[in-house]
Amino acid sequence: MDLHNIDNYLRPTDINKVTAWGKNWSWLAGGTWLFSEPQPDVKTLVDIQAWGWDEIEVNSSSEGGLLTIGATCPLIKLLKHPWLSEYIAVEGFKAAISALAASLKVVNMATVGGNICLALSVGTLAPMMVALDASYEIWNLQGKSRIVAAKDFQIASRHTVLQSGELLRRVLIPVEHLKWQVDYKRFGMAASDPALAIVVGAYNEIANKMRLVIAASVVAPVLLEFDHNLDSSLDYITSVENMDFIEDARAIAIYRRQVTQVLIKRCFNNFGF
Ligand SMILES: Cc1cc2nc3c(=O)[nH]c(=O)nc-3n(C[C@H](O)[C@H](O)[C@H](O)COP(=O)(O)OP(=O)(O)OC[C@H]3O[C@@H](n4cnc5c(N)ncnc54)[C@H](O)[C@@H]3O)c2cc1C
Repeated sequence: MDLHNIDNYLRPTDINKVTAWGKNWSWLAGGTWLFSEPQPDVKTLVDIQAWGWDEIEVNSSSEGGLLTIGATCPLIKLLKHPWLSEYIAVEGFKAAISALAASLKVVNMATVGGNICLALSVGTLAPMMVALDASYEIWNLQGKSRIVAAKDFQIASRHTVLQSGELLRRVLIPVEHLKWQVDYKRFGMAASDPALAIVVGAYNEIANKMRLVIAASVVAPVLLEFDHNLDSSLDYITSVENMDFIEDARAIAIYRRQVTQVLIKRCFNNFGF
């Protein structure tokens, strides 16, 4: 849709060209959300699409190896990338993107950074990033960068730790974590509805450790970790009893909690525990 209140559209060639930042300014990536509804608080859009931040790179020479995913990497590129077969965790990305149930247009245009920074409670990529113990590299306009663990990035629905003028540059994931078994479970009333609950399990067979991320049923992804043993599915199920689940017109909190518990059980069953 047209955004009638936009006064300025800036298309700098590089982040260095952005020397100031205003109160009603917004980064523009794929634009799939920004142009999907009125943005009464946004007056200036700063387009970052031309900065070439869409890399998917595996750097095996650094200690342990890192996968980096640039912020403007379109979701479709994650789907089409020729991943090594040993990186079984990328199936989780594919499930997360398919779970979007969005049109092909959104999947082609929407970016990894846009999805993470939009920080919807139903955000599809964030729980995957938390499950894989990813980190985010954040840049500011003074040329400084900082690293934030994915689990600490989103603090509420539509709220992140990003300060004014900061932006996500890239996602960093240890290559070893791509070998974890991942199970991405989502429940919505219909495939095209926003999720009521998402549970992502990531099992590190070598360390016998399970990470479980609860999302969509809560305002921001929550990471749960217990030592893995025969009864640990019970630990996870009981630990969500006192969590604050979203209560709104789409579902009451108890319903979301119970669906989450079912998804946890299914996740464990899928891992064969
Ligand atoms: C019909 C429809 C249904 C959808 N359903 C879901 C859903 O169920 N689950 C889900 O996860 N998403 C859903 N989305 C959201 C969709 O995934 C987002 O539109 C998309 O992820 C945003 O990506 P984008 O690159 O287009 O971001 P944009 O629309 O360009 O930007 C989105 C926000 O992120 C900010 N931003 C973008 N990049 C950066 C960056 N690098 N650093 C800092 N801030 C940045 C922008 O300033 C803006 O505030 C839906 C969208 C539509 C239109």
